[in-house]
Amino acid sequence: MVTLSSSYESSQNSAPSLSPSPSLSSKSPLPSPSQPSFVAIGHTESQSALQVPKFRAIASSVRNVTLSSRTPLNSELPSPVTARATDRSRSPSPFWSGSAVSRSSLHQHSQSRRAVSLFDDASASSSTDLSLSESVSSLRPIRTNIFSSSSYKTESVEARSNDYEESRDNRGKGSSGLGTMAKSAPGSILIRLQKSMLGSPSSILSFRPTRLYTRTAQYAVVTFLGLLLLVTAINRRSTPKISAPSYAALNDAVFQAHSQKAFTPLVPRSDANVPVEVLRARRKPKAALISLVRNSELEGIEQSMRHLETRFNHKYNYPWIFFNDVPFDDTFKARTQNLTNAECFYATVPESHWSLPKWIDESRFISSLEYLGAIGVGKGWMISYRHMCRWNSGFFYKHPILDDYDWYWRVEPDVHFFCDVDYDPFAFMEENNLKYGFNMNILDDARSFPSMWRQTQEFMSEYPEFIHPEADFSWIIDHKNDGEYNNCQFFSNFEIGSLDFFRSKTYNTYFDYIDRKGGFYYERFGDAPLHTLAVVLFLSKRETHFFRDIGYQHDINKQCPANLLNKCSCEPTDLDENFYKLVPMESPQKKPDDSCIRLWLGGEWLERDDTGKYVKNGFEF
Ligand code: GDP
Ligand code: MN
Repeated sequence: MVTLSSSYESSQNSAPSLSPSPSLSSKSPLPSPSQPSFVAIGHTESQSALQVPKFRAIASSVRNVTLSSRTPLNSELPSPVTARATDRSRSPSPFWSGSAVSRSSLHQHSQSRRAVSLFDDASASSSTDLSLSESVSSLRPIRTNIFSSSSYKTESVEARSNDYEESRDNRGKGSSGLGTMAKSAPGSILIRLQKSMLGSPSSILSFRPTRLYTRTAQYAVVTFLGLLLLVTAINRRSTPKISAPSYAALNDAVFQAHSQKAFTPLVPRSDANVPVEVLRARRKPKAALISLVRNSELEGIEQSMRHLETRFNHKYNYPWIFFNDVPFDDTFKARTQNLTNAECFYATVPESHWSLPKWIDESRFISSLEYLGAIGVGKGWMISYRHMCRWNSGFFYKHPILDDYDWYWRVEPDVHFFCDVDYDPFAFMEENNLKYGFNMNILDDARSFPSMWRQTQEFMSEYPEFIHPEADFSWIIDHKNDGEYNNCQFFSNFEIGSLDFFRSKTYNTYFDYIDRKGGFYYERFGDAPLHTLAVVLFLSKRETHFFRDIGYQHDINKQCPANLLNKCSCEPTDLDENFYKLVPMESPQKKPDDSCIRLWLGGEWLERDDTGKYVKNGFEF
């Protein structure tokens, strides 16, 4: 026996799947305006499972539902039956959110599609289980003020259990017949409507199953499941998938493998004594110095070029390639060319690489700009900054001007290079099979990319085959914080990297996956954490290099090696120097126990003495 206590959501345009009893008004005495009338809505037990969708339909269409049973339920009635928003019964709204129940709709005999769609909706949006107790001796009538409309007010919807009899033949008795009906038909459901404002009589409606729709729905479900099975079988990967709950296991697994191995940096062979002509005659890697820069940042890029040309490129003559979202002006071109003997190229970023993708919800994006701006996330309110981060994440390497190149060195305006670079970093990377080089490893404000790690974990679960067998997650995972990302990242305004790495299917599958989720716009995903996670996921640590010897400054972050004093014009900085710069110690953001660079270096770099000081002091190497 099922009782249902609730209000019924209907629409003037779409008739509810309640069939009125046309004989009601003639057979039953009309209730007085203050007397409730009743609506009977079908069986649960006496009918086949074809009824179930109807009950679901009802469940989906009501706000406050209680279903319970006195007798064992038809085994085909799925338990628990669910309905949405049942918690509203605690504070029922006097206003119905849907359209009003109109007299005409109540009196329609239509077995409309609405029943089916409500059923679907109920299955999809059900949120609260309704218990179907199997031996309830007496059911409490539940009364709630549910809704009012211009025509009717449903004051209460009453559930009667096995004290109501209803069949195809005797359905639709008026309120006076309720007592009798309610006594003898297990499994019926009553909804009581009370006429409120108009003096017209209420109706007794009965809900009739539509076998046709039910069967069609069944066919549709079976066909859908069949297709799903087929697609799953076709897509089955050879590598077993890691299911979502095993993120922690995955993290632990990767953590164990390489965590304690100290990194031994490769030492480049110096070309300091090699004559420039010999250097120039050497076969050079296909590499370029690349810079995304605005026309307005001309002086800034001039300063960066001067430094890098003086310290490195005047000997090696790698071309400069400048990128801009608008065309470079003539002054920019002339003045940058004046600073180098190397070739200069100027590329405009295609609009499709620098605009809101079509899947981004603009209002959500605008909210994010306002929100991140308001809470003080750096450049959180800037639209161009989002485009810039996305371009640096997934587009720079796609520009055709880089098609013939294998390597890039990213240079920003207003940065400083303090030390002579007496070797060719590109050749060094190529010879040593390196893919990614950095020179600062910092902690950044996690409020700009709160969901990046979760999305990355999902990606790992979906594409475990892309994870490098020697991937070392140890330094980016906070094991004291439930395997969360510790927000350490390579500071990507300095990068020397392999374009082929970024062009790889692996990287692009990852970028597309993240990009589709919208975090470049709904949050403020930076290219630094994204590059970092990609490097960690898809490369062995041996393919990553720390260019500690390239003294460098970007804004407040600066790093200067201690062992190259005669080659550098900077005060040596401690290894841990840049760790806290972007996330001050007083910020509530959780910090790792060691600085990011030490975590990356690992092993003996993390050892401390009795007083808690690092055994390897920060100025080394
Ligand atoms: P930050 O280093 O994260 O503070 O970001 P920046 O403001 O320095 O921007 C990073 C790089 O992108 C710099 O090289 C900028 O010149 C460049 N950039 C940022 N926004 C734009 C833009 O709207 N147009 C162009 N052409 N370059 C930009
Ligand atoms: Mn910058």
